[in-house]
Amino acid sequence: MKLYEFQGKEIFKKYGIPVQSGFLIHAKDKGKDLTPPLVLKSQVLVGGRGKAGGIKIWDGSTDVSKIINELFALKIKKEKVNAILALEKVDILREIYISITFNKSKSIPVLIVSTSGGIDIEKSAKLDKEKIYFIELNPFLGILEYQIRGIVKKINIENYLEFKRIIKAMYKIFKEYDATLVEINPLAITPDGLIVIDSKIDLDDHSYFRHEELFQKLKKEKKLIQDKNSVVIPESWDDTITYVPFSGNIGLISDGAGTGLLALDLISEYGGKVANFCEMGGITNSEVMLKSLKMVASDQSVKSILVVLIGGFNRMDEMAKGIIKFTKEFNKNIPIFVRMCGTKEEVGKQLMRDANIPIYDSLNIAVKKAVKKAMEN
Ligand code: GDP
Ligand code: MN
Repeated sequence: MKLYEFQGKEIFKKYGIPVQSGFLIHAKDKGKDLTPPLVLKSQVLVGGRGKAGGIKIWDGSTDVSKIINELFALKIKKEKVNAILALEKVDILREIYISITFNKSKSIPVLIVSTSGGIDIEKSAKLDKEKIYFIELNPFLGILEYQIRGIVKKINIENYLEFKRIIKAMYKIFKEYDATLVEINPLAITPDGLIVIDSKIDLDDHSYFRHEELFQKLKKEKKLIQDKNSVVIPESWDDTITYVPFSGNIGLISDGAGTGLLALDLISEYGGKVANFCEMGGITNSEVMLKSLKMVASDQSVKSILVVLIGGFNRMDEMAKGIIKFTKEFNKNIPIFVRMCGTKEEVGKQLMRDANIPIYDSLNIAVKKAVKKAMEN
């Protein structure tokens, strides 16, 4: 689960990591009394926000409500802005990148530090490889003093104790929250010391059972600032659905990763482009089918939906019920192409026929039809 900047910063604050003071502005509370200088930051989950114009500095010389309106009108990589974090502007002398994540091939946490933080970190990661330091951590020992001393020397930081406190707190958050990423980019060196400018925290969805209350609280906060018209990447921790967004116009749903990937390949083979892909998990039911269809259809670029089902444990009568419910109650205009076979196939097919929804035995034909329809629409 990806957290918004303001959510990440709340956690940072709790662990004693210095953050700017500030508050959240919702679309409904425009016209609040504000004192400059402020940094106004659109709260979105996608990266590259600054570059997309999602961050504005207000020095008091212009009308702040105009800036706020502009930010609320923005769409950053399809994501609508529904909340703005207003922060006291700080003077930045230097920017540093720090993150803790997993080195998946070694199954250990790794601390990544770079002297060239800021909005171009991806570019500098390619250009200045020697300026990025990867420090592998022993999960039983955590971050050791000598490792921190080593980095401080390399990146030339004066505030050693402050820096150490921040890194140790980041690691504590990483562990205690079961995070897969805790990132500060940038950490600013200011005339008054170190301060976090931006936060990115990603929690491991599989740890839901350990943090049920926290996940529910974070999800509730997120709901408040997301609206039904924006494309929101759904959370997958409360069911078995894996959702992957792409940038085409065909929605794809499968009941297994293998079939899904095969269908993805076939779609591109026939000249189509996938908008998003939902893999429902091997054992599933009509509710999950319905939810997947809703997820896929929530992206307004979807022009046709392809559902690829090979029932093993998964029952086709259940799948048919989910699809029928979706077409009757939620979807009026996106055409759906279903390839159905496997367990309880005959019952499922009969239900589909009774509801007048076409079904296909051949994957090739279903794919071709879905691609053709997406191109027409
Ligand atoms: P991102 O584009 O989503 O990564 O947004 P960030 O919060 O990292 O901000 C992008 C850039 O805006 C930072 O690297 C800073 O250079 C600048 N910035 C953000 N907040 C402040 C601030 O309080 N003071 C100053 N001087 N610059 C800021
Ligand atoms: Mn940033």
